[in-house]
Amino acid sequence: MQGCFACGNERIRPQAARDFGALSARSVRRVDVRRPFHPQRLYDFLHATGDAGRLLRSKGYFMGLKIFLGDRLVDEADAKISVFDHGLLYGDGVFEGIRVYSGRVFLHDEHLSRLYESARAIRLEIPLDQPRLKKAVEETVAANNIGDGYIRLVVTRGAGGLGLDIRKTSHPQIIVIADKISLYPPETYTNGMNLVTASTIRNHPGALSPRIKSLNYLNNILARIEGTDAGMVEALMLNHKGEVAECTGDNIFLIKQGVIKTPPPDAGILEGITRNAVIKLAREAGQPVLETALTRHDFYTADECFLTGTAAEVVPVVSLDGRPIGTGKPGPLTKTLIGRFHELTRK
Ligand code: PMP
Repeated sequence: MQGCFACGNERIRPQAARDFGALSARSVRRVDVRRPFHPQRLYDFLHATGDAGRLLRSKGYFMGLKIFLGDRLVDEADAKISVFDHGLLYGDGVFEGIRVYSGRVFLHDEHLSRLYESARAIRLEIPLDQPRLKKAVEETVAANNIGDGYIRLVVTRGAGGLGLDIRKTSHPQIIVIADKISLYPPETYTNGMNLVTASTIRNHPGALSPRIKSLNYLNNILARIEGTDAGMVEALMLNHKGEVAECTGDNIFLIKQGVIKTPPPDAGILEGITRNAVIKLAREAGQPVLETALTRHDFYTADECFLTGTAAEVVPVVSLDGRPIGTGKPGPLTKTLIGRFHELTRK
Protein backbone atom coordinates (compact mmCIF):
# COMPACT_ATOMS: atom_id res chain seq x y z
CA MET A 1 0.00 0.00 0.00
CA GLN A 2 1.55 3.24 -1.17
CA GLY A 3 -0.81 5.61 0.63
CA CYS A 4 -1.50 9.24 -0.12
CA PHE A 5 0.69 10.82 -2.79
CA ALA A 6 1.40 13.85 -0.65
CA CYS A 7 1.60 12.64 2.92
CA GLY A 8 1.98 8.90 2.51
CA ASN A 9 -0.94 8.26 4.80
CA GLU A 10 -1.99 4.72 4.24
CA ARG A 11 -5.66 5.28 4.89
CA ILE A 12 -6.01 7.17 1.61
CA ARG A 13 -6.02 4.90 -1.41
CA PRO A 14 -3.43 5.69 -4.11
CA GLN A 15 -5.95 6.25 -6.89
CA ALA A 16 -7.32 9.18 -4.87
CA ALA A 17 -4.18 11.05 -5.95
CA ARG A 18 -5.12 10.95 -9.63
CA ASP A 19 -8.54 12.49 -9.11
CA PHE A 20 -7.61 14.83 -6.35
CA GLY A 21 -6.39 17.60 -8.65
CA ALA A 22 -9.80 17.96 -10.27
CA LEU A 23 -11.64 17.74 -6.99
CA SER A 24 -9.46 20.25 -5.22
CA ALA A 25 -9.89 22.72 -8.08
CA ARG A 26 -13.62 22.70 -7.32
CA SER A 27 -13.13 23.11 -3.58
CA VAL A 28 -10.18 25.40 -3.67
CA ARG A 29 -12.17 28.53 -3.07
CA ARG A 30 -13.22 27.21 0.31
CA VAL A 31 -10.04 25.45 1.40
CA ASP A 32 -6.84 26.32 -0.38
CA VAL A 33 -5.17 22.95 -0.45
CA ARG A 34 -2.96 23.64 -3.45
CA ARG A 35 -0.63 26.19 -1.99
CA PRO A 36 1.50 24.97 -0.32
CA PHE A 37 0.75 21.25 -0.40
CA HIS A 38 1.55 20.62 3.20
CA PRO A 39 1.05 16.90 3.89
CA GLN A 40 -0.80 17.39 7.16
CA ARG A 41 -3.03 19.96 5.53
CA LEU A 42 -3.95 17.63 2.71
CA TYR A 43 -4.59 14.82 5.12
CA ASP A 44 -6.79 17.04 7.30
CA PHE A 45 -8.64 18.20 4.22
CA LEU A 46 -9.31 14.72 2.94
CA HIS A 47 -10.16 13.49 6.36
CA ALA A 48 -12.49 16.35 7.22
CA THR A 49 -15.95 16.92 5.88
CA GLY A 50 -15.07 19.06 2.85
CA ASP A 51 -16.49 18.40 -0.59
CA ALA A 52 -13.45 16.50 -1.78
CA GLY A 53 -13.34 14.47 1.40
CA ARG A 54 -16.95 13.44 1.00
CA LEU A 55 -16.55 12.63 -2.66
CA LEU A 56 -13.43 10.60 -2.04
CA ARG A 57 -15.21 8.69 0.67
CA SER A 58 -18.21 8.00 -1.53
CA LYS A 59 -15.98 6.80 -4.37
CA GLY A 60 -14.34 4.39 -1.99
CA TYR A 61 -10.91 6.07 -2.29
CA PHE A 62 -10.85 6.79 1.37
CA MET A 63 -10.50 3.81 3.62
CA GLY A 64 -13.08 4.17 6.32
CA LEU A 65 -12.59 4.52 10.00
CA LYS A 66 -12.80 1.75 12.53
CA ILE A 67 -16.03 2.23 14.45
CA PHE A 68 -16.87 0.64 17.79
CA LEU A 69 -20.39 -0.74 17.42
CA GLY A 70 -22.12 -2.81 20.07
CA ASP A 71 -19.21 -4.66 21.59
CA ARG A 72 -16.47 -4.59 18.94
CA LEU A 73 -14.60 -2.57 16.34
CA VAL A 74 -15.94 -2.85 12.80
CA ASP A 75 -15.11 -1.21 9.48
CA GLU A 76 -16.98 2.04 8.81
CA ALA A 77 -18.73 0.38 5.85
CA ASP A 78 -20.12 -2.30 8.18
CA ALA A 79 -21.13 0.07 10.98
CA LYS A 80 -24.89 -0.11 10.45
CA ILE A 81 -27.85 0.06 12.79
CA SER A 82 -31.53 -0.73 12.34
CA VAL A 83 -33.94 1.77 10.78
CA PHE A 84 -36.20 0.84 13.72
CA ASP A 85 -33.68 2.14 16.24
CA HIS A 86 -35.41 4.61 18.54
CA GLY A 87 -32.32 6.82 18.38
CA LEU A 88 -33.23 7.47 14.75
CA LEU A 89 -37.01 7.38 15.07
CA TYR A 90 -37.30 9.58 18.18
CA GLY A 91 -33.88 10.97 19.11
CA ASP A 92 -34.17 8.47 21.95
CA GLY A 93 -30.65 8.10 23.28
CA VAL A 94 -27.73 9.97 24.78
CA PHE A 95 -24.31 11.04 23.60
CA GLU A 96 -21.02 12.73 24.38
CA GLY A 97 -18.54 14.72 22.30
CA ILE A 98 -15.03 14.25 23.68
CA ARG A 99 -11.64 15.64 22.69
CA VAL A 100 -8.43 13.74 22.20
CA TYR A 101 -5.17 15.62 22.70
CA SER A 102 -1.93 13.85 21.77
CA GLY A 103 -3.72 10.51 21.78
CA ARG A 104 -5.06 11.07 25.31
CA VAL A 105 -8.81 11.21 25.92
CA PHE A 106 -9.38 14.55 27.65
CA LEU A 107 -11.52 14.57 30.83
CA HIS A 108 -12.58 11.04 29.96
CA ASP A 109 -14.12 10.13 33.34
CA GLU A 110 -16.07 13.40 33.49
CA HIS A 111 -17.62 12.75 30.07
CA LEU A 112 -18.43 9.14 30.91
CA SER A 113 -20.06 10.13 34.19
CA ARG A 114 -22.27 12.63 32.38
CA LEU A 115 -23.18 10.00 29.78
CA TYR A 116 -24.26 7.52 32.45
CA GLU A 117 -26.19 10.27 34.27
CA SER A 118 -27.99 11.28 31.05
CA ALA A 119 -28.82 7.60 30.47
CA ARG A 120 -30.18 7.19 34.00
CA ALA A 121 -32.35 10.27 33.54
CA ILE A 122 -34.01 8.74 30.47
CA ARG A 123 -34.14 5.21 31.92
CA LEU A 124 -31.70 3.83 29.41
CA GLU A 125 -29.41 1.08 30.57
CA ILE A 126 -26.01 1.24 28.89
CA PRO A 127 -25.08 -2.36 28.10
CA LEU A 128 -21.40 -1.93 29.05
CA ASP A 129 -20.20 -0.79 32.45
CA GLN A 130 -18.16 2.41 32.73
CA PRO A 131 -14.66 0.80 32.87
CA ARG A 132 -15.42 -1.37 29.80
CA LEU A 133 -16.84 1.58 27.87
CA LYS A 134 -13.77 3.63 28.78
CA LYS A 135 -11.61 0.87 27.33
CA ALA A 136 -13.77 0.76 24.18
CA VAL A 137 -13.27 4.49 23.65
CA GLU A 138 -9.50 4.15 24.09
CA GLU A 139 -9.40 1.18 21.72
CA THR A 140 -11.28 3.19 19.08
CA VAL A 141 -8.86 6.11 19.39
CA ALA A 142 -5.88 3.76 19.05
CA ALA A 143 -7.39 1.81 16.13
CA ASN A 144 -7.82 5.04 14.16
CA ASN A 145 -4.44 6.41 15.08
CA ILE A 146 -5.91 9.64 16.40
CA GLY A 147 -3.44 12.14 17.84
CA ASP A 148 -5.55 15.28 18.16
CA GLY A 149 -9.17 14.53 17.42
CA TYR A 150 -12.73 14.21 18.50
CA ILE A 151 -14.83 11.30 19.71
CA ARG A 152 -18.56 10.93 19.29
CA LEU A 153 -19.89 8.45 21.81
CA VAL A 154 -23.54 7.55 21.23
CA VAL A 155 -25.91 5.21 23.02
CA THR A 156 -29.28 4.67 21.37
CA ARG A 157 -32.35 2.99 22.87
CA GLY A 158 -32.00 0.27 20.20
CA ALA A 159 -34.46 -1.18 17.72
CA GLY A 160 -38.11 -1.30 18.71
CA GLY A 161 -41.56 -0.99 17.26
CA LEU A 162 -42.87 2.08 15.51
CA GLY A 163 -44.54 3.16 18.76
CA LEU A 164 -43.08 4.94 21.77
CA ASP A 165 -43.14 2.03 24.21
CA ILE A 166 -39.56 1.49 25.35
CA ARG A 167 -40.47 -2.01 26.56
CA LYS A 168 -40.61 -2.99 22.90
CA THR A 169 -37.04 -1.90 22.28
CA SER A 170 -34.13 -4.24 22.67
CA HIS A 171 -30.36 -4.01 22.60
CA PRO A 172 -29.33 -0.39 23.16
CA GLN A 173 -26.58 0.37 20.64
CA ILE A 174 -23.21 1.76 21.62
CA ILE A 175 -21.41 3.65 18.87
CA VAL A 176 -17.95 5.19 19.21
CA ILE A 177 -16.56 7.27 16.34
CA ALA A 178 -13.07 8.75 16.62
CA ASP A 179 -12.12 11.22 13.93
CA LYS A 180 -10.37 14.50 13.23
CA ILE A 181 -12.10 17.70 14.24
CA SER A 182 -12.78 20.86 12.29
CA LEU A 183 -12.72 23.92 14.50
CA TYR A 184 -14.12 27.39 14.19
CA PRO A 185 -11.81 29.33 11.84
CA PRO A 186 -8.61 30.58 13.57
CA GLU A 187 -9.75 34.22 13.24
CA THR A 188 -12.64 33.44 15.60
CA TYR A 189 -10.07 32.90 18.35
CA THR A 190 -7.95 35.96 17.54
CA ASN A 191 -10.71 38.45 16.65
CA GLY A 192 -13.53 37.00 18.76
CA MET A 193 -17.02 35.84 17.87
CA ASN A 194 -20.20 37.85 17.30
CA LEU A 195 -23.44 36.50 18.71
CA VAL A 196 -27.15 37.10 18.28
CA THR A 197 -29.92 36.01 20.60
CA ALA A 198 -32.19 33.38 19.06
CA SER A 199 -35.94 33.71 19.47
CA THR A 200 -36.13 29.95 20.12
CA ILE A 201 -35.90 29.53 23.89
CA ARG A 202 -34.00 26.66 25.50
CA ASN A 203 -36.11 23.61 26.34
CA HIS A 204 -38.13 24.10 29.52
CA PRO A 205 -36.34 22.01 32.17
CA GLY A 206 -39.70 20.58 33.21
CA ALA A 207 -40.28 19.29 29.68
CA LEU A 208 -36.86 17.96 28.74
CA SER A 209 -34.02 18.89 31.02
CA PRO A 210 -31.13 20.53 29.13
CA ARG A 211 -28.89 18.71 31.63
CA ILE A 212 -29.57 15.52 29.67
CA LYS A 213 -27.27 15.33 26.66
CA SER A 214 -29.85 13.53 24.57
CA LEU A 215 -29.82 12.66 20.89
CA ASN A 216 -32.70 15.10 20.41
CA TYR A 217 -30.96 18.36 19.50
CA LEU A 218 -33.80 19.99 17.58
CA ASN A 219 -34.14 22.76 20.16
CA ASN A 220 -30.50 23.72 19.62
CA ILE A 221 -30.66 23.22 15.86
CA LEU A 222 -33.63 25.58 15.51
CA ALA A 223 -31.76 28.26 17.42
CA ARG A 224 -28.59 27.59 15.42
CA ILE A 225 -30.52 28.14 12.17
CA GLU A 226 -31.40 31.61 13.43
CA GLY A 227 -27.72 32.28 14.13
CA THR A 228 -26.73 31.04 10.68
CA ASP A 229 -29.41 33.21 9.06
CA ALA A 230 -27.88 36.18 10.88
CA GLY A 231 -24.42 35.24 9.56
CA MET A 232 -23.12 33.95 12.92
CA VAL A 233 -21.57 30.63 13.85
CA GLU A 234 -23.30 30.48 17.25
CA ALA A 235 -26.44 31.92 18.84
CA LEU A 236 -27.41 32.77 22.40
CA MET A 237 -30.41 31.00 23.93
CA LEU A 238 -32.54 32.33 26.77
CA ASN A 239 -34.46 30.13 29.18
CA HIS A 240 -38.22 30.13 29.78
CA LYS A 241 -37.75 32.93 32.35
CA GLY A 242 -35.98 35.16 29.83
CA GLU A 243 -32.60 34.73 31.51
CA VAL A 244 -29.46 33.83 29.60
CA ALA A 245 -29.04 30.07 29.44
CA GLU A 246 -26.29 29.06 27.02
CA CYS A 247 -25.43 28.96 23.34
CA THR A 248 -26.64 26.25 20.98
CA GLY A 249 -23.56 24.10 21.56
CA ASP A 250 -21.48 26.01 24.10
CA ASN A 251 -21.72 27.46 27.60
CA ILE A 252 -21.36 31.20 28.12
CA PHE A 253 -19.44 33.33 30.63
CA LEU A 254 -19.00 37.04 31.27
CA ILE A 255 -16.39 38.97 33.19
CA LYS A 256 -17.32 42.16 35.03
CA GLN A 257 -14.89 44.05 37.24
CA GLY A 258 -12.66 41.00 37.59
CA VAL A 259 -15.51 38.63 38.57
CA ILE A 260 -16.28 35.72 36.24
CA LYS A 261 -19.99 34.91 36.03
CA THR A 262 -21.93 32.13 34.32
CA PRO A 263 -25.50 30.81 34.54
CA PRO A 264 -25.98 27.97 37.05
CA PRO A 265 -27.15 24.47 36.00
CA ASP A 266 -30.70 25.30 37.16
CA ALA A 267 -30.88 28.08 34.56
CA GLY A 268 -31.60 25.21 32.15
CA ILE A 269 -28.20 24.50 30.65
CA LEU A 270 -26.06 21.55 29.82
CA GLU A 271 -23.49 21.46 32.59
CA GLY A 272 -20.51 21.58 30.27
CA ILE A 273 -17.37 19.61 31.01
CA THR A 274 -15.28 22.46 29.59
CA ARG A 275 -17.33 24.95 31.65
CA ASN A 276 -16.51 23.05 34.82
CA ALA A 277 -12.83 22.73 33.87
CA VAL A 278 -12.58 26.49 33.21
CA ILE A 279 -14.35 27.33 36.51
CA LYS A 280 -11.83 25.11 38.32
CA LEU A 281 -8.86 26.68 36.52
CA ALA A 282 -10.07 30.19 37.35
CA ARG A 283 -10.69 29.38 41.01
CA GLU A 284 -7.30 27.69 41.33
CA ALA A 285 -5.76 30.92 40.05
CA GLY A 286 -7.64 32.86 42.75
CA GLN A 287 -10.20 34.42 40.41
CA PRO A 288 -13.74 34.65 41.79
CA VAL A 289 -16.37 32.73 39.80
CA LEU A 290 -20.10 33.16 40.42
CA GLU A 291 -22.74 30.79 39.10
CA THR A 292 -25.70 33.12 39.05
CA ALA A 293 -28.78 34.07 37.03
CA LEU A 294 -27.81 36.54 34.28
CA THR A 295 -29.76 38.61 31.79
CA ARG A 296 -28.78 39.92 28.38
CA HIS A 297 -28.25 43.31 30.04
CA ASP A 298 -25.44 41.75 32.08
CA PHE A 299 -23.77 40.65 28.85
CA TYR A 300 -24.36 43.93 27.00
CA THR A 301 -22.61 45.77 29.85
CA ALA A 302 -19.89 43.18 30.62
CA ASP A 303 -16.16 43.82 30.27
CA GLU A 304 -15.49 40.48 28.57
CA CYS A 305 -17.37 37.44 27.38
CA PHE A 306 -16.36 33.96 26.23
CA LEU A 307 -17.82 30.56 25.37
CA THR A 308 -16.68 27.10 26.41
CA GLY A 309 -17.29 23.75 24.78
CA THR A 310 -15.48 20.54 23.99
CA ALA A 311 -15.15 21.30 20.29
CA ALA A 312 -14.88 25.08 20.66
CA GLU A 313 -12.57 24.99 23.72
CA VAL A 314 -12.55 28.63 24.97
CA VAL A 315 -13.68 31.27 22.45
CA PRO A 316 -13.77 35.04 23.04
CA VAL A 317 -17.09 36.76 22.26
CA VAL A 318 -16.86 40.41 21.21
CA SER A 319 -20.45 41.40 20.50
CA LEU A 320 -24.01 40.39 21.29
CA ASP A 321 -27.03 41.59 19.31
CA GLY A 322 -24.92 44.30 17.65
CA ARG A 323 -23.60 45.67 20.97
CA PRO A 324 -19.82 45.48 21.39
CA ILE A 325 -18.86 43.78 24.64
CA GLY A 326 -16.19 45.70 26.57
CA THR A 327 -13.66 47.09 24.08
CA GLY A 328 -15.13 44.96 21.28
CA LYS A 329 -11.94 42.88 21.28
CA PRO A 330 -11.00 39.66 23.12
CA GLY A 331 -10.39 40.65 26.74
CA PRO A 332 -7.17 40.12 28.75
CA LEU A 333 -8.69 37.76 31.32
CA THR A 334 -10.26 35.68 28.56
CA LYS A 335 -6.87 35.40 26.85
CA THR A 336 -5.26 34.28 30.12
CA LEU A 337 -7.94 31.62 30.57
CA ILE A 338 -7.45 30.41 26.99
CA GLY A 339 -3.74 30.02 27.73
CA ARG A 340 -4.41 28.12 30.95
CA PHE A 341 -6.91 25.88 29.22
CA HIS A 342 -4.40 25.00 26.51
CA GLU A 343 -1.86 24.15 29.21
CA LEU A 344 -4.41 21.81 30.79
CA THR A 345 -4.99 20.02 27.48
CA ARG A 346 -1.24 19.43 27.19
CA LYS A 347 -0.78 18.08 30.72
N1 PMP B 1 -24.22 23.39 25.86
C1 PMP B 1 -24.68 22.61 24.87
C2 PMP B 1 -26.09 22.73 24.47
C3 PMP B 1 -23.83 21.69 24.23
O1 PMP B 1 -24.28 20.91 23.25
C4 PMP B 1 -22.48 21.60 24.65
C5 PMP B 1 -21.56 20.60 24.03
N2 PMP B 1 -21.29 20.87 22.69
C6 PMP B 1 -22.04 22.47 25.66
C7 PMP B 1 -22.94 23.33 26.27
C8 PMP B 1 -20.63 22.43 26.14
O2 PMP B 1 -20.43 21.26 26.89
P1 PMP B 1 -19.03 20.54 26.94
O3 PMP B 1 -18.03 21.52 27.48
O4 PMP B 1 -19.24 19.38 27.84
O5 PMP B 1 -18.69 20.15 25.55
